[in-house]
Amino acid sequence: MDEILWKRESFRKKAREVARNVIAPQASEIDAKGELPWEIVDVFAQQGFLSILIPEEYGGMDADITSFCIVVEEIANYCASSSLLIIAHTVGLMPIILGGMPELKEFCLTRVAKEKAILCFCLTEPDAGSDAASIRTKAILQGDHYLLNGRKCFITNGGISDFYTVFAVTNSEMKMEGISGFVIEKGTPGLSVGKTEEKLGIRGSNTTEVILEDVKVPISQRIGEEGVGWWLMMRTLNRSRPAIGAQAVGVAQGALDYVIQFGQGKGWFKNNGALEIQYKLADMAIEIEAARALVYKAAQMMDEKVKGTPVQMFSAMSKYFASDVAMKVTTDIVQIMQWQGLTKDHPVERMMRDAKVIQIFEGTNQIQRLVVAHTLLKEAK
Ligand SMILES: Cc1cc2nc3c(=O)[nH]c(=O)nc-3n(C[C@H](O)[C@H](O)[C@H](O)COP(=O)(O)OP(=O)(O)OC[C@H]3O[C@@H](n4cnc5c(N)ncnc54)[C@H](O)[C@@H]3O)c2cc1C
Repeated sequence: MDEILWKRESFRKKAREVARNVIAPQASEIDAKGELPWEIVDVFAQQGFLSILIPEEYGGMDADITSFCIVVEEIANYCASSSLLIIAHTVGLMPIILGGMPELKEFCLTRVAKEKAILCFCLTEPDAGSDAASIRTKAILQGDHYLLNGRKCFITNGGISDFYTVFAVTNSEMKMEGISGFVIEKGTPGLSVGKTEEKLGIRGSNTTEVILEDVKVPISQRIGEEGVGWWLMMRTLNRSRPAIGAQAVGVAQGALDYVIQFGQGKGWFKNNGALEIQYKLADMAIEIEAARALVYKAAQMMDEKVKGTPVQMFSAMSKYFASDVAMKVTTDIVQIMQWQGLTKDHPVERMMRDAKVIQIFEGTNQIQRLVVAHTLLKEAK
């Protein structure tokens, strides 16, 4: 087996073990309490899941997007909230990996690899969700530092991060070219955490406001040149959407595995019984496989550094197709299990709530459809 394949399979093995032995027994409690125990974060750090994309020179695992998706899928099989900690952290890291100056990489990436520092990605604002180019957080250059003011909302890991990757307007005369990215360390005066959101699903994931009031950020903590923030953000989201797709595939597969075991336990399928349910299970298995194929195709395109708009299109397709499949599959499974599907004695109602959230974050599925349609029309010219 070549080295890349070996690395991917070793990540799959490690993630599967962690998911089954450490996470599965706690998944319903994580949902009920609305928080993840630090023990799980420690295990993620030990296994290299928090430094999966960090280059070796900064102490990371130097793995590829496919490996990242594999880890996410395996964890999401049992707990979408736990997998989201890894995704949001890695999304916070990506702009730094892609465009940070060597000193910034040294400052931040080595801290992740050695001290299990956690990151988040701060883009969304109360008046700028889908239309990310209309963010209002400002970064004004004053001598050797920037002064940042603004309010970010719905930030995953917002209340538990050591570093905040923040996007702000550095030149309001320009639109996309006027946006820059910054890394801000926890404890920097003026940076505070606001409201923690109580969500329908993925409840164990920490989601908060992040408030910036006259936060002084040295120029050395700007990610790349001024004005490249939009480009970094887009490149990051292209890479992270397949991971969100992998999360959705994990949730759907987890629910399917559960209902099969449940039905077998009840003797539903003996003597070729419950044929209607068997047909439904077959359809679900096909849809999950199709979603998985799309997710890993998009991941492979990233790993092979394919250039151009199709990459963006496949990334969008993988996120929205897989999360729509997860929503459909989990809803159907709750229906199949009837009243038992609705109770907290079984994980499928949680999985259904989690799937709903996946359709919304990291760009709604409506916006992903627009990305696909725009690419098709552009390519057809
Ligand atoms: C659990 C959770 C975690 C999140 N984590 C993060 C995070 O870590 N970092 C971060 O920056 N953000 C995060 N977000 C924010 C998330 O990415 C946004 O919620 C999402 O992009 C949608 O933005 P919005 O909620 O403001 O909806 P809006 O942009 O206000 O959209 C509202 C509705 O209008 C539709 N719509 C908007 N524009 C168009 C259009 N042009 N054409 C057609 N339909 C349109 C949308 O599809 C949606 O249905 C998170 C959100 C959630 C729910």
